[in-house]
Amino acid sequence: MSQELPHFRYHPDPLGTGSVVTSDEECERCGEAPGYVYRGPSYAVDEVESLCPWCIAAGSAAEEFDAEFATADEAPDNVPARVVEEIVRRTPGFAGWQQERWLFHCGDGAEFLGRAGWDTVASHPELVPTLVAEGWREDALPRLSVDGDLVAYLFRCRHCGAHLAYADAS
Ligand SMILES: [Zn+2]
Ligand SMILES: [Zn+2]
Repeated sequence: MSQELPHFRYHPDPLGTGSVVTSDEECERCGEAPGYVYRGPSYAVDEVESLCPWCIAAGSAAEEFDAEFATADEAPDNVPARVVEEIVRRTPGFAGWQQERWLFHCGDGAEFLGRAGWDTVASHPELVPTLVAEGWREDALPRLSVDGDLVAYLFRCRHCGAHLAYADAS
């Protein structure tokens, strides 16, 4: 029986997004094989391949390997440093083709919901001008696909519920 995953408030369903997968691999931090392993990026000096979600949640993985799992360089000034620290060091990240980045809203980190294709983006029409403002042509957006060469990364504000996204091409 596998135990319940830790709760990540900025990445509520890491199994659903594919950043955590079921696996019997051992965690390089705790040596346990708790049934799940992190499959997102780790930015560390030394290569680290297998970490369990519990060591990420506890911060022990980030501490032992001086690792970060996400990029939050664009955090607005009104986001507390402890929030940025939680996102980059104690939250599972996600892989993109280009440098991935976390999104923020209402002075807090947004929760990452996963990759999104055009159907999802179109169901939140406020996302279209956001993506166009980032330089995407509106007539290219219907090509967005979770398994194609143009994908959106979907977030939701934890306070006002607004959906946020950015797009990435291979
Ligand atoms: Zn571990
Ligand atoms: Zn908001």
